[in-house]
Amino acid sequence: LFIAFEGGDGAGKSTQAAELAKALESSGFTVLRTREPGGTPIGEKLRSLVLDHGHGHIDAHTEALIFAASRAAHASQVIRPALERGEIVLTDRYIDSSVAYQGAGRGLGTEAVRDINAWATSGLQPDLTVLLDVDPAVGRQRRTAGDAAEDRLESEADEFHAKIRAAFLDLAAARPEAYLVLPARLPVTELAARIFERVESLLA
Ligand code: C5P
Repeated sequence: LFIAFEGGDGAGKSTQAAELAKALESSGFTVLRTREPGGTPIGEKLRSLVLDHGHGHIDAHTEALIFAASRAAHASQVIRPALERGEIVLTDRYIDSSVAYQGAGRGLGTEAVRDINAWATSGLQPDLTVLLDVDPAVGRQRRTAGDAAEDRLESEADEFHAKIRAAFLDLAAARPEAYLVLPARLPVTELAARIFERVESLLA
C-alpha cells in the first residue's frame, strides 16, 4: 500500500505521516516513511540543489527536471522495493507537489509536469493521497503588515500559494476515490483519526 501526503507548506504533512506510521506499526504493519525532495542519497543532493539558495537562480524547467530526477530515484530505489517487500510506504510529497508547485505555481503547465513525472516513475501512483488543505489567507493573517515593498511580495506569495492550493484541489477532484481531502486546521488528533480510518478501510 502506497500513501502520499500532499499539501502546501506548513500543512502538517510530516506530523500526520508520523502519526499514521505509529498507528500502523502498533497494528503490526511494517511501514517505510520517506520524503521528497530527497529520500535517497542522490535525491538529498538534488534537494539541496533546488532548496539551497547558494546556487543562484534556477529556471523553472531545470527545477522541474531536478525534482523529477530526484523522484525517479526515489520511486525505483526506495518506494518500489519497499512495496515489493510488502511494506506500507508513506511519502511526504510526491508527484502532485510537482504538478502544483512547478506546473501551476511556476506556470509550466500541470499536464506537462504530470507527464514527465509519470515517465520518471514508470507510472507508479499512490493508492491513496492524503491532501491536507491549507488556506493561504490563514498564513497571511498571521503575518504582520510591513512596508509597501513587503506588501507586494506578500501578495505575490499569496497568489503563488493560492495557485498551488487550487492545483492540489483540482487533482483530488479529478480522482476523488484516490484522495482523502482534509482541512489542515483540524486538530492533530482528529486528522490522525480520520486518516487512520480511511487507511484501515483500504487494508480490510
Ligand atoms: O516538504 P518540504 O517543506 O520539505 O519541501 C520543501 C520545499 O520544496 C517546499 O516548501 C516547497 O515549496 C518546495 N517544493 C517545490 N516543488 C516540489 C516539492 C517541494 O517547490 N515538487
